[in-house]
Amino acid sequence: MLAAVYNGVNQFELAEYPLRKLDNGEVLIEVNYCGVCGTDHHIISGKAHANIPVILGHEFSGVITDKGHNVNDFQIGDKVAVDPNIYCGKCRYCRKGKVQFCENHQALGVTVDGGFAEYVIVPTSQIYLLPNNFDLSIAAFAEPLSCCLRGIEQAEIKPGDTVTIIGGGSIGLLMVQLVKLSGAAKIILVEPIESRKQIGLKLGVDIAFSPDDKNLVKSIIDYNDGGTDVAIECVGKSETVELSLKLIAKGGTIVVFGLAAKDEVIELNLQELFRNEIKIHNSFLNPFTFDAAVKLLVSGRINLNGIPTSKIQLKDIKDIFNRVDHTRIIKSQVTNKNKEE
Ligand SMILES: [Zn+2]
Ligand SMILES: [Zn+2]
Repeated sequence: MLAAVYNGVNQFELAEYPLRKLDNGEVLIEVNYCGVCGTDHHIISGKAHANIPVILGHEFSGVITDKGHNVNDFQIGDKVAVDPNIYCGKCRYCRKGKVQFCENHQALGVTVDGGFAEYVIVPTSQIYLLPNNFDLSIAAFAEPLSCCLRGIEQAEIKPGDTVTIIGGGSIGLLMVQLVKLSGAAKIILVEPIESRKQIGLKLGVDIAFSPDDKNLVKSIIDYNDGGTDVAIECVGKSETVELSLKLIAKGGTIVVFGLAAKDEVIELNLQELFRNEIKIHNSFLNPFTFDAAVKLLVSGRINLNGIPTSKIQLKDIKDIFNRVDHTRIIKSQVTNKNKEE
């Protein structure tokens, strides 16, 4: 089958790749859509780890085309979304319910073969059944949405809170919708690109700022009479985390959601943290949130039509990683020829 194989830093090739036989409890999935994530860019440029060789792509959906032994709950032809994170269930963290820290964690598309391919082999523990008529392009958002749901858990939003989201990419725009569902009274977006601000405003943002607006901090603090109750940082840079610290109200919670490069550091004023009881939370992977993500997508409560998504054929996948202009398209999905629904 055709697959995009990662062979080491900046070595990312489209190649014929052999498919192994199915084991017990595994299914073969014909990939329809696989989202391209910031993590894929980080892996290819050497800023994040992956095994070698491996087929990248961890945000995928497709149709079951074959089953190994002992697969009784799923049928050939079923449409499914896939949680790429596989936990051992036996290590100290798994046994405490903190599976995201699993000492034997495997991830489809990072440590084992993933979705930038015509087919992928997946254990049934990872698959989530979708309705027959469901749009698989939307289903490929289940993984990023499940990660956002973990971030929302960490944000501890209470009805009536003001929430500021920093970064209006695909993650920030999913966060806007989840924050709205969580009962926020006011939603503020900080994002430099005008078209993304406009999309945010359509999806539930009340007021949008640019990071280079004059008096940005004062404007946001004034807007909520003393700061934002929750800030969700979806960029992964020290300056945006520092901005969160300037915007946060006393007793507020900051979620550092964006993945920062290894050398990003910030300075913290400890007495300010102490006096103001500022909570700084992080969010790693998607522990026990995939089911909720699928249900939110199937229910239609998350609007993906507003998020510009480009669909690129698997054979043209390298174009995505060579592209420089990210202003117009917010999300890219890789698809297989003749497999459009
Ligand atoms: Zn991802
Ligand atoms: Zn484990």
